[in-house]
Amino acid sequence: LNSQQKQLRQLYQDAAALFHHILLNTKLGEQALTYTQQRQLTPTLLDTFDIGYAPEENNLLTRFFAEKKLDFNLLRHSGLFLENNDGTLRDRFVDRVMFPIKDAQGNVIAFSGRALTKREGQPKYLNSPETELFNKRNVLFNFDVAKTEIRKAKQAILFEGFMDVIAAYRAGITYGVASMGTSLTNEQLYLLQRSTDHLVVCYDGDTPGMKATDRVITLLHDDPRFQLSIVTLPEQLDPDEYVNKYGEQRFRDVIGGGMETAVGFRLRYLKQGRNLDNEQEKLTYIDAALHELVNVSSAVERDIYLNRLSESLQVTYEALVTQLQDYLVDAT
Ligand code: ATP
Ligand code: MN
Ligand code: MN
Ligand code: MN
Repeated sequence: LNSQQKQLRQLYQDAAALFHHILLNTKLGEQALTYTQQRQLTPTLLDTFDIGYAPEENNLLTRFFAEKKLDFNLLRHSGLFLENNDGTLRDRFVDRVMFPIKDAQGNVIAFSGRALTKREGQPKYLNSPETELFNKRNVLFNFDVAKTEIRKAKQAILFEGFMDVIAAYRAGITYGVASMGTSLTNEQLYLLQRSTDHLVVCYDGDTPGMKATDRVITLLHDDPRFQLSIVTLPEQLDPDEYVNKYGEQRFRDVIGGGMETAVGFRLRYLKQGRNLDNEQEKLTYIDAALHELVNVSSAVERDIYLNRLSESLQVTYEALVTQLQDYLVDAT
C-alpha cells in the first residue's frame, strides 16, 4: 500500500468506528437502533458486522474529520463525501444504517448504507463509489469471515443482500456471502475458488431473484471449478424474511435439504409464466426442457429428468427419449 492508500484505510476505519458508536451509544442513533432491533440485529450481530448509523445531523462525518486536519484531497477522493458548489464537502451518507464492506483481510474499504426513512428518489441501498481501495467487482460481503467457514463447510452460499447474509449467520450458517448489489463477477469467483469447489445459490424467492439465479447458472455453465446447487425459498421470500417467518431451524433445514441441481432449477424456471394446460405452450415447454437436457452429460441424470418430465407432463418416456435423441444428434 502507498501512503495515500494507508490514509484512506485509516479514514474508513475511523468512519466505521464513529458510525458504530453513534448507533450504539448516542441519542442521534436511537431511532436507527430501534430499527436494527426490529430487524433482529442483536447487539452481538451489530458488533460482529460493525454495523453503524450515519445520522441526519448536519454533516457529522465532515465535521469529525475537519477537526483532525487531514489532507483535503484525501477527503475529497475518499468517497465518503459529496462536494458542494463552493468546493466544500458534505456527508454522502445521511440517515442510513451503515454496513461496512471489508476486503478479504477484514479492512473496511467501503460502505453500503440502507435508508432508514423512505425518501422520494433515494435508493434503498447506497454504496460508496469506487476508490483506490474499493473495486466492487472484487468484493464479497462477509468474505473476510466466511473464507475459513467456507473451507470447513466445503461450500459457499451466495445471497443477494447483506441482511440475508446476516440472517443466515444468525441461524448458524456462517459461510454466506453477497456481492455488492450486482451480478456475480469472475473476480468474485476467483476469490471463492480458493476456498471451495461447491457453490450454493440462495437468492430471493421472487421473480428478480430467480432471474438472477438463472444468470449465475449461465455464468457457471460448464465451469470445471465449481459444482452448483440451488435453493429456492417459497412464497417469494428472501432469506432474511424466511428466517424471521419460519425460524432458524427451518432455515437450516431448507438450506441443507432443499438443494437442487442447476438443471433441476432450469426445468422449473422454464415453466414460469407458461400455461401447461395449453397444448401449444406445453409443446414449447417440452422443447425448451429437452434442449436443456442436451447439455447433461450423465445418462443417469438425464434419465431422472426425463422420468420427471414424463410424469408431470403426461407424455410417454419413450416419446421424450426419441425427441431428445434428435436434439443430441443435432448438437454433435
Ligand atoms: P432489505 O431487506 O433491507 O429491504 P434486501 O437485501 O432484501 O433489503 P433487495 O431489494 O432484495 O434488498 O436487494 C438485494 C440487494 O441488492 C441489497 O442487499 C443490496 O445489496 C442491493 N441493492 C438493492 N437496491 C439497491 C440499490 N438501489 N443500489 C445498490 N444496490 C442495491
Ligand atoms: Mn430482491
Ligand atoms: Mn431481498
Ligand atoms: Mn430483505
